[in-house]
Amino acid sequence: MAAPSDVDGRERRPAGLTARFPVRRLACPHCGAAFDAPRRAISIRCPACTGQLQLQDAVLSSTVQGTVRTLGHVRIARRGSVTGQIECGCLQVDGAMNAAALVHGPSTFTPKSRATGSLRTRSIIVAPGAVLDLDLIVGDTVGARAATSAVDEVRRRLHERSAAAAGA
Ligand SMILES: [Zn+2]
Repeated sequence: MAAPSDVDGRERRPAGLTARFPVRRLACPHCGAAFDAPRRAISIRCPACTGQLQLQDAVLSSTVQGTVRTLGHVRIARRGSVTGQIECGCLQVDGAMNAAALVHGPSTFTPKSRATGSLRTRSIIVAPGAVLDLDLIVGDTVGARAATSAVDEVRRRLHERSAAAAGA
């Protein structure tokens, strides 16, 4: 008797294949080409444009000002605070983000997270309790560029906010 997987006449990929050779699907931020990279790689060249891509994962558990750029997973820990610019493959915020962020994969905001600034992300999960005050775009990020003057922009917004609070 034919197995259900024979119905369309094609052989299915063995279930264990991706488990034995774990990869992550990446979109090159330079040219938009999609390709698979070994999950353990920390740096790779885009096969289409040969641009060098960093893949390190980062856990930020202190106060960070500046730019964080990787196609890996960035996590802002509960006590962490990032002011500046973030570009990454995957973002999880448990602490505070005051940034212009471009995330080529999913962004997750956990219950005690706080975020101001802007976020462009492929998809988003917001837990109840998260406080977000963001310019938000959810969808395709191919060809998107991270905002350049992010730190100045964040400072301007914080200034506007404190000015508004003082005037109220
Ligand atoms: Zn490329």
